[in-house]
Amino acid sequence: MIGGGQLARMMGEAAESVNVELHVLATSMDDCAVTTCHEASVGDAKDASALAQFGASVDVVTFDHELVDLEQIAELEKSGVVVRPSSNSLRYSVNKAFQRQEFKNAGLPVPKFLVVSSIEDSALNAFLDELGTEPVVKASHGGYDGRGVLFPENRDETFSAIKKLSKDGPVLIEERLELEGEVAQLIARDVNGKLAVYPLVTTVQRDGMCIEVRYPSHASDDFDTQAKLLGEQIAQLMDVVGIFAIEFFVTEQGLVINEVALRPHNSGHWTIEGTETSQFQNHLLAVSGQELGAIETTGNYAVMVNIIGGDAAPTPERAAAIEDVHVHDYAKEWKPDRKLGHITVVGHLQMQTLMTGWAAATAYGTTVVEEPL
Ligand code: ADP
Repeated sequence: MIGGGQLARMMGEAAESVNVELHVLATSMDDCAVTTCHEASVGDAKDASALAQFGASVDVVTFDHELVDLEQIAELEKSGVVVRPSSNSLRYSVNKAFQRQEFKNAGLPVPKFLVVSSIEDSALNAFLDELGTEPVVKASHGGYDGRGVLFPENRDETFSAIKKLSKDGPVLIEERLELEGEVAQLIARDVNGKLAVYPLVTTVQRDGMCIEVRYPSHASDDFDTQAKLLGEQIAQLMDVVGIFAIEFFVTEQGLVINEVALRPHNSGHWTIEGTETSQFQNHLLAVSGQELGAIETTGNYAVMVNIIGGDAAPTPERAAAIEDVHVHDYAKEWKPDRKLGHITVVGHLQMQTLMTGWAAATAYGTTVVEEPL
């Protein structure tokens, strides 16, 4: 697995149960996956020789983040290394502009958008005038957790946002939708194209970062069906092997696709305790060429709350002392605004599940949980 962050860490915890030995390419031996994986090498994910050496030492290469160079990954494939998901699939998550354009071409619901490389673009002013409000401005490469996503309030700020983000490549400018909420669809696809479609969940964001996930989703049954159908179509379009997530905006007009991630996703952490086979296990099963596992839920309700560094150091042991609370501490150095861990509660009663999750997150010391009810 290229990358040694918390996704790789949780993948390491899942590996033995699916008969996989996980070898990570970490940026340093301090990366949080190093203690859970079978083997770790240190190297830069964008260094061609480090990649070649790593690729030669494993059966399959997969990813814990999308901060990779697609040309280098394609070279790795050409040299005979098995890469799952492939560089062609990965392009959808590495390049948001490509993703938007391909989805639009396929007739999938996406926000109105324009890709520009500078404020000089001849189509820019007409596009901005056509929108009712100022747009959302996004870097097409390299953003995550809301970094690389700007919400300008007036035209001057829009131009400054484009100037700022265009220093690093093309910029995606899109219509700012009025959101009724956000939901996420997680799907695993095996090497034969067989799917495991997890239940739809609601995600709660603050400052562009996911802070909480709830199963079942608050969205109507119609949205469940729509998300599943769109998910099946997208799985085939991207020809993905492994787990992937689709983040949807819930709008008056129905579901609109925000983005896809071709890796385990924050919206799927609850599956570790909440479904028979977690997203981490199913990802490893898929990329190692095995059959997918069952995804029946283990309770009627689940809540996952991210622990994000605040002013004081976190206290995971206080959360762990609460009954029915599963604590995942990523063993990361504590820093404000950094994801340090998460808690999950699975239960049969909605109110009790949410209240226990809220109590656990507060005990852990997160500063960002909103009133859950
Ligand atoms: P990242 O890739 O960093 O997670 P996203 O593109 O998912 O960034 O944006 C982060 C959050 O910003 C979204 O979850 C949503 O709350 C808000 N957002 C992004 N795009 C739009 C949009 N077009 N309209 C309204 N809100 C948006």
